[in-house]
Amino acid sequence: MQGAIVVWGGARPQIMQIDVGNDMELSGHCYCGAIRYTAQPDIKARIQCCCRECQYISGGNPNVMLALPSDSFRYETGVVKQFTRLDVANPVVREFCPICGTHLLSRSPRLPGLVLVKVGTLDQPALFDKPDFVQFISECQAFHVVPDGVPAYEGRRPAQGGSLSGQTVE
Ligand SMILES: [Zn+2]
Ligand SMILES: [Zn+2]
Repeated sequence: MQGAIVVWGGARPQIMQIDVGNDMELSGHCYCGAIRYTAQPDIKARIQCCCRECQYISGGNPNVMLALPSDSFRYETGVVKQFTRLDVANPVVREFCPICGTHLLSRSPRLPGLVLVKVGTLDQPALFDKPDFVQFISECQAFHVVPDGVPAYEGRRPAQGGSLSGQTVE
């Protein structure tokens, strides 16, 4: 797995490519640092979602997430607050820092056994690289960017084979 590290110092930060072995643990935290987590780097999908709901979550741009096995994800410090909408079918459970409000992950009833970790909370966000697919492009704003050469779907990605077999993603 390839990653990148930013080295500060000198006139400009340098970006160096690093090799991140499969045994390197992922880690991350909320903006204030009260919530910290670790996870195994067993990435099941790299997702970009442009839906209107995700625009609230991300601050306006598409939301980017890593799908990771929930059994290898662990909060190390802090206690998150959960939020679930009651006005939609099959709502996701969203977990936030109760102090700074950072959204850390969601758990979808459509994806049992996985957590969808928000890439911006990772200590190694460069690991995302680019999405495997983009969904809900029908709800994109004019200023959203959908990468070239990546499968893009009008709505939720249809169920298909692969690591998220038979499931759709929210
Ligand atoms: Zn926080
Ligand atoms: Zn979305």
